[in-house]
Amino acid sequence: MNYLLLCFGLWFATAANAQTVYLLKPDRVFDGETMHDGWVVRVNGDKIDAVGPAANVSATGAEVVELAGQTLMPGLIEGHSHLFLHPYNETPWDDQVLREARSLRTARATNHARKTLLAGFTTVRDLGTEGAEYDDVGLKQAINQGIIPGPRMVIVTKALIATGSYGPKSPSPDSQFPQGAEEADGHDALIRAVRSQIGKGADAIKIYADYRWGLMAEARPTFTLDEIKLIVEVAKSSGRAVVAHASTAEGMRRAILGGCETIEHGDAGTPEIFALMKQHGTALCPTLAAGDAVSQYRGWKKGQEPEPNRIREKRVTFKQALDAGVTICAGGDVGVFSHGDNARELLMMVDYGMKPLAVLRAATSINADVFHLADRGRVKAGLLADLVGVQGNPLTDIGALRQVQLVIKGGTRYKP
Ligand SMILES: [Zn+2]
Repeated sequence: MNYLLLCFGLWFATAANAQTVYLLKPDRVFDGETMHDGWVVRVNGDKIDAVGPAANVSATGAEVVELAGQTLMPGLIEGHSHLFLHPYNETPWDDQVLREARSLRTARATNHARKTLLAGFTTVRDLGTEGAEYDDVGLKQAINQGIIPGPRMVIVTKALIATGSYGPKSPSPDSQFPQGAEEADGHDALIRAVRSQIGKGADAIKIYADYRWGLMAEARPTFTLDEIKLIVEVAKSSGRAVVAHASTAEGMRRAILGGCETIEHGDAGTPEIFALMKQHGTALCPTLAAGDAVSQYRGWKKGQEPEPNRIREKRVTFKQALDAGVTICAGGDVGVFSHGDNARELLMMVDYGMKPLAVLRAATSINADVFHLADRGRVKAGLLADLVGVQGNPLTDIGALRQVQLVIKGGTRYKP
């Protein structure tokens, strides 16, 4: 134990030096694809320098860091976060959008960013500020400039909605509330909105392909197929992807045919729709944890009461997506539930029928591939030294993902 502390102490002392070389010796390495017992990882500056069996990786000139009992993995990638939201059982979404100052929301977001990173998630795809305008741009800059600790961010800024389709909803047609995303419709307005979000800093464009329109309780498709194709065409010409919130079968169908790369939620997908996703290479980000959290906020006593319809149906459609061979991203819609509890989604993916190995891949190499992040998501020489160490083996107990012992981002250690 003392030896371990000494190693960490030395490492602390020299972490400021970007050219520090260290050799991480865990029990095993998950490289983003498979598990390897007895592998080690050498880090040089902000990059992974070498990885492989201990006998094949030179320790010369490197500080050796023993990680007894740990599994070392690529830094986890959260596929669906909202750093500008906090759990709805603390404050309902409407009140966060309407009553919380943007400065308050930003102050909270800095805490959320730190908690996310310390939970082992070194990258987030943050899917909309939900009324906090372009504040994700500055948050991302603050993290990248080392002003605050946080994950690398892929941001979409305000997100796009069809007029009248989103919220908060005014009970009176005579008053208009500020909305949680940007309204735009039709040819010229959509082109302008997409371009302006990209101009302000969006790394991707998010659309709401369906939602509870007006005062209707049921979700219905919003943008027309032509509108979605147009959004995708404009975004693509800047090299950016479009991601779609969609929970209805028709909303999903339009998002797939329109060229969106990922579908968020997908709750009411059907075998036909999932086959269409497979055919078009559209990935599904199932956000199991969000539905689980919202159901509990509405009174479901999980573990004591039977699962509500919404949860039972989600289990069925998620299984259909798996059976169809749809690419599954890992993203929980964290913000609906507590930031830092991102692993909740990964545990639920196993509970809903995915193999632990498939879940580990989803949260690392698959998210990296789907989000076009070629510099991370694997433990491989030349990639960013974004690494997380968890106690135990997540292949035999997925709960190990909650036992985060070590977090390194770009070669800099943030935990312990
Ligand atoms: Zn979301």
